[in-house]
Amino acid sequence: MAIYNPKSLKAEEFINHEEILKTLAYADENKNNDKLIDEILEKARPQKTKTGYVCAGLSHREASVLLACENPEKIKKMFEVAEEIKQAFYGNRIVLFAPLYLSNYCVNGCLYCPYHAKNKHIGRKKLTQEEVKAEVIALQDMGHKRLAIEAGEDPVNNPIEYILECIKTIYSVHHKNGDIRRVNVNIAATTVENYRKLKEAGIGTYILFQETYHKNSYETLHPTGPKHDYAYHTEAMDRAMEGGIDDVGLGVLFGLDKYRYEFAGLLMHAEHLEAVHGVGPHTISVPRVKHADDIDPNVFDNSISDEMFTKIAACIRLAVPYTGMIISTRETEAVRAKMLQVGISQVSGASRTSVGGYTEEERPHDTEQFDVSDQRTLDEVVRWLMETGHIPSFCTACYREGRTGDRFMSLCKSGQIQNCCTPNALMTLTEYLVDYASEETRKIGYRLIEDELKKIPKENVRKIAAEHIEAIKNSNKRDFRF
Ligand code: SF4
Ligand code: SF4
Repeated sequence: MAIYNPKSLKAEEFINHEEILKTLAYADENKNNDKLIDEILEKARPQKTKTGYVCAGLSHREASVLLACENPEKIKKMFEVAEEIKQAFYGNRIVLFAPLYLSNYCVNGCLYCPYHAKNKHIGRKKLTQEEVKAEVIALQDMGHKRLAIEAGEDPVNNPIEYILECIKTIYSVHHKNGDIRRVNVNIAATTVENYRKLKEAGIGTYILFQETYHKNSYETLHPTGPKHDYAYHTEAMDRAMEGGIDDVGLGVLFGLDKYRYEFAGLLMHAEHLEAVHGVGPHTISVPRVKHADDIDPNVFDNSISDEMFTKIAACIRLAVPYTGMIISTRETEAVRAKMLQVGISQVSGASRTSVGGYTEEERPHDTEQFDVSDQRTLDEVVRWLMETGHIPSFCTACYREGRTGDRFMSLCKSGQIQNCCTPNALMTLTEYLVDYASEETRKIGYRLIEDELKKIPKENVRKIAAEHIEAIKNSNKRDFRF
């Protein structure tokens, strides 16, 4: 039997089944232990320091106790502390991005995804470089600056060379005042050598969803193809880091297995990365199984309610305070609104989840990976964020200033990153308002920028940000950053 060891490089030792079962039993034993729950909440709360705030975070066992607790008063407190953490480290800025589907050719047999190899009626499509360019122009014309590229696993149709060529094309397109400044990559688990190539191509974060941490379920849900190999998939982030990628993004597909199991596994994965590489995950995504072409989410009987989904996000925020949290347009506007309060820091906007979807007039459904619940335009999402008290941000500064991996984390942990995030959010929002927004959104945005500028505590930062904002408004100068 594998022994739990967060420093091990073997999947079954750092995501250890026995340890998860013990964690769940411990959580059940203590879910009514009010004293312990109060202590855990106190530990999670941000503490003020000279430069900002620090947060202790929680272990997978502590966070699992909170997740198991059903006392409404304590749950309310969890949400409050999650919001405190969000305010302390992220303020009210929300970073926007869009997925770009390159190819839906896939040799895997994932039971929850319509791109699985046995689906013979879905249209298969792979973008040519000309089509990539056209998609990127369409995304730039909306105002996007940050993309997450997606492709199925297919060594013949989507080899690493194809992905690298697409990245090069994406960065090369500069339409009007637009450019894509950061490409995050969500492709199948691969070799150290390929991760090194991705790093050299200038990617931001490498994202790979675990889907489920439960090994038996994983093997059942991935019956065929290279993804069937649980260990190879689970150990991918270690290979990515060995290949020099220091920002990695985790995620599970909630609804595939029992959420409490997934939650404990996810946090153990974060602890493992911290223990071995000295830096935890850059982001955690929280997708849920959704309807798609030949996929019925009701087949998976582990679906979770909106309330539980929000509680999971709050508990992740308490456990890993420095990790960005991402929610996609799989979720409705109402769910996204709730999730923003408990610590989401990035949202996708105006996403099309089909290959070549952005150049189509109407939202195409024939090659979609999942149904999009939030179908608003980017302008509507930007306005909605501002009207709900957030600063929409198109910032990509850290990656471009070399603030990645542990450099980023140390700035984040000392609270100093806020000195960059807010002015960068205001400057990139100005770019959006000047170049792409509707009249109404622009008006709301300018007012918000004026108010938010006044709140920047450091006088010199406030002054420089204000000057850059004026320059953006009155010229074609772009891409200022702290
Ligand atoms: S989830 Fe990814 S690997 Fe699985 S079938 Fe879909 S595209 Fe392929
Ligand atoms: S300054 Fe860095 S952490 Fe802040 S929004 Fe920009 S890229 Fe993200």
